[in-house]
Amino acid sequence: MNGDWRLFYGKRNTVNSTREDKQWSNFDMRAACLHSPAEVASRPLNLEDVAVPRPKPGQLLLRVRACGVCRTDLHIVEGELPQRKTPVVPGHQIVGEIVEGVTGQLKKGTRVGVSWIGGTDGSCWYCRHNFENLCDAPTYTGYSVDGGYADYAVARSDFVFPLPEGLDDLHAAPLLCAGIIGFRALRVAGVQQGERVGLFGFGASAHLAIAVLQAWRCDVYVATRGESHRKLAGELGATWVGSENEKPPLELDRAITFAPSGDVIIAALASLRKGGVVSINAIHLDRIPQFDYDRLLWGERQMRSVTNMTREDAREFLKLAAEIKLQPKATVFPLADANEALLAVKGDSIDGAAVIVP
Ligand SMILES: [Zn+2]
Ligand SMILES: [Zn+2]
Repeated sequence: MNGDWRLFYGKRNTVNSTREDKQWSNFDMRAACLHSPAEVASRPLNLEDVAVPRPKPGQLLLRVRACGVCRTDLHIVEGELPQRKTPVVPGHQIVGEIVEGVTGQLKKGTRVGVSWIGGTDGSCWYCRHNFENLCDAPTYTGYSVDGGYADYAVARSDFVFPLPEGLDDLHAAPLLCAGIIGFRALRVAGVQQGERVGLFGFGASAHLAIAVLQAWRCDVYVATRGESHRKLAGELGATWVGSENEKPPLELDRAITFAPSGDVIIAALASLRKGGVVSINAIHLDRIPQFDYDRLLWGERQMRSVTNMTREDAREFLKLAAEIKLQPKATVFPLADANEALLAVKGDSIDGAAVIVP
């Protein structure tokens, strides 16, 4: 339908639970909208009543059951990433229940996950060569299209992941970006079973990666700021835990950086054996400081960035997560407190993940 379809429906009703099979778009929903990026301390997300989005062909309408908060959301809200849509509803770790647009295996009521990559063009060189994470024209959930800080969201039906039974909403949400991208970071680093692996920074993504590494019988070395993060790393079975300035006692085969800081990348490089790999799990970094090539990179050490994810990463990781009964630590925030959830992520004031439950 062209133009402002809301005019067709006249006055919209409020959200209630007795509207099965009605035209969803007649209704309002709540959404945390970003109009202009600003420091999260100024509470830039505005809770608004907006129309429930209308799924186009090939899309599903989801009732949001939970939406994880990712550091990337913070970069979007604070304007470290350029605005792609205004206003935008952030949120790209959506656990949703299909309410409209059923197709194939995806029946009404199916619980699915939506992640950062909401779609790809399928036609660029990268898509055609099995690198869909590097697509030239991807859709980003909660950035170039509206995401899950809302009661409802739409998603492309070929970019949702049915969720295993064993994963409840709260614990599945943080897996959908933090988990999948952490998993990809382990792959980009080339982690092999039984290796010594360093995790630099210990937020939402790292505390999921450690469980995967344990399933692969790796020894995990965690360097992170914050006493509570160090304590959690110890509780989760890290072989060694130190502060961000401490060097692990042994040379590492692989290191994954999670902290959005160039200094941390240097620390990770300095901890590697020859031929070791650092994978950098950050969509945004201020800078990498100048460093000593002879000592830190020579010896065929490598630095590799981790960019987005493929659907194969998502499927394999979610399968593994269900098998190893991954239960991320999660702190719940109501939708009205979306700004507070972002503040908590920014201030590293919670262990594990923040999850918004509308
Ligand atoms: Zn592409
Ligand atoms: Zn994310």
